[in-house]
Amino acid sequence: MLGPVILAASRSDTLRRAVSAAPVTKPVVNRFIAGESVEETAPVIRSMADNGLEITLDVLGEDITDRAEALAARDSYLRLVEALAPLELGERAEMSVKLSSFGQALPGGHDLALENVTAVVEAAAAIGTTVTLDAEDHTTIDSMLAIHGELRARFPRTGAVVQSYLFRTEDDCRALAAAGSRVRLVKGAYKEPASVAHQDKGEVDRAYIRSLRILMEGGGYPMVGTHDPRIVAIAQDLARRAGRKLDEYEFQMLYGIREAEQLRLAAEGHRMRVYLAYGTDWYGYFMRRLAERPANLAFFLRSLVTR
Ligand code: FAD
Repeated sequence: MLGPVILAASRSDTLRRAVSAAPVTKPVVNRFIAGESVEETAPVIRSMADNGLEITLDVLGEDITDRAEALAARDSYLRLVEALAPLELGERAEMSVKLSSFGQALPGGHDLALENVTAVVEAAAAIGTTVTLDAEDHTTIDSMLAIHGELRARFPRTGAVVQSYLFRTEDDCRALAAAGSRVRLVKGAYKEPASVAHQDKGEVDRAYIRSLRILMEGGGYPMVGTHDPRIVAIAQDLARRAGRKLDEYEFQMLYGIREAEQLRLAAEGHRMRVYLAYGTDWYGYFMRRLAERPANLAFFLRSLVTR
């Protein structure tokens, strides 16, 4: 029951200031965030790639309030592309983008986000990599999928994320499961109303498996974003039944979560991509990780009393 309370707290500016200023926060945040700058993060990318892992990079930032911030977010991604170029990892290091950080919620935001993300996707393509559009709250999904469709016309490797807790997602999976599409399926991390999303965890899990079956049986490239051991096993089974080889789908997990399992899956020959977030604007991302799992919250609270 704590999850919704923490998700509500993730929207509070007062709490954002208090948590960010607390001296204990940084070491705890560092468990989930790879660094504050691209320079700090580059060695982490190199070492993960050397361990057989693939990476998707998220420059933290969301809910921006003006166009200048949206352009600054775009420029952070362009700097990331420059830093990735000499690593020569191609699609082994791709990028995840939240369109809200590119101005999607501002007046005229759909076009602004499209323009900003197009610049990043073009730069990514020039160094042989690509971009996946993260899924945010349900009010943004139509715009995100429309932008995804426009980008795919020129850059077919552009990926999209769908969330199994939303009632609409099985239909979205059917529409997206075409040849060549890259689709990351996750359970969903935002607080959504009962009018649009399953509220019961069991329902969310069952919906995940139904959507996963659609993606595995379709012609696209499924990206299985979960830490759930049961779903990892079911994904392997569904992939086998659909006749997919190990390189015809991938697992994705977040940096700092189930690292031994990430290495185990990679060592078994699976494609295992780690979602690596970095930057100074980590509050919303960090609070969603706390909301997902009591053990993450316990880890944070313990650090408050044992410093
Ligand atoms: P949960 O239901 O949280 O957990 C199921 C089981 O997994 C647990 O019982 C436990 O056995 C295991 N587990 C979970 N966490 C841990 C842990 N910390 N340590 C050990 N075991 C654990 N959400 C969005 O809304 N939009 C996005 O664009 C998005 N992108 C994502 C990208 C990636 C790569 C991943 C992995 C997640 C993303 N999410 C995104 C978050 C996602 O929606 C879920 O909130 C998050 O993944 C938690 O759900 P879960 O599938 O891991 O399973």
